[in-house]
Amino acid sequence: FGFKGCQKIRGPQIRNLLEAKDFFLFDCDGVIWHGENAITGAAKVVSSLIRRGKNVVFVTNNCTRPRENYVHKFYRLGFTDVMLEQIFSSSYCSALYLRDVVKVPGQVFVIGCDGLRRELQEAGIPCVEEADDPDATIYDCALAPDVKAVLVGHDDKMTFLKLAKASCYLKDPECLFLATDNDPWHPLSGGRILPGSGSLTAALEVASGRKATVIGKPSRFMFECISSQFRGVDPAQCLMVGDRLETDMLFGSNCGLDTMLTLTGVSQIEEAQEYRNSDQTTNHSLVPDYVVDTIADFLPAFED
Ligand code: PLP
Ligand code: CA
Repeated sequence: FGFKGCQKIRGPQIRNLLEAKDFFLFDCDGVIWHGENAITGAAKVVSSLIRRGKNVVFVTNNCTRPRENYVHKFYRLGFTDVMLEQIFSSSYCSALYLRDVVKVPGQVFVIGCDGLRRELQEAGIPCVEEADDPDATIYDCALAPDVKAVLVGHDDKMTFLKLAKASCYLKDPECLFLATDNDPWHPLSGGRILPGSGSLTAALEVASGRKATVIGKPSRFMFECISSQFRGVDPAQCLMVGDRLETDMLFGSNCGLDTMLTLTGVSQIEEAQEYRNSDQTTNHSLVPDYVVDTIADFLPAFED
């Protein structure tokens, strides 16, 4: 009976919700695009919200690109009014965390793509140079003496040697252990999947016997980054729209935001209903307040 959440909304209910909120947070993959293909109607939704004076930001756990690349990607996919200031990625927020929160007093050892390293560089975070001989072992490598943090993110050139070095650095209890995000995997076309940052973090957690501090969704830190850059953000005025219950809906709940699941991505409505009906109350934070088939369902609300 009266379980809260998972309300499938349409037409006038969507219109009322869009009118009531003034700050929209969109996850990217599965909501705005699938890889290199925009979700049909998404560009129009974004520009209509912006034209109506709504604040729109993008909150992505994809740590593989610096923010400028996202601006280009948005443009390439037909989102012509998205600016750098609207983009909050787990790589950008990791750089802010290292620079402004922990003020890291030494170098950072990075497991991640070049895009992550570029974002850190932009923030002035010194990173250990990576130029390994592919046949080297941990004995062939000098460990840098001033590594004060290990940051793990999705790395398509992950090697055993990187894992070994990171584990050595983490022997020092003063060395911080951070993860850009903890996503387990991502869907690719043709039924394939891409292992996510979380799979690499898990390997390093086992090897080091430590737990990483996660920067990306569902951690609240990304919302703190947004709040510090947009004055007067009121959680009650925000709607978090995402496609994954364990990251996006939990992020919204953790930050006190209303949440909306769109069914164009990873999670199905049945999974949300299972969490809702679960006896374990911690599962209730994964339940969206609202559900739509696609954000294109917003479009009729913009017609007068
Ligand atoms: N990380 C990587 C490496 C990805 O490829 C993706 C999606 O494609 C994500 C994270 C998830 O991104 P988002 O949070 O925008 O769904
Ligand atoms: Ca997503």
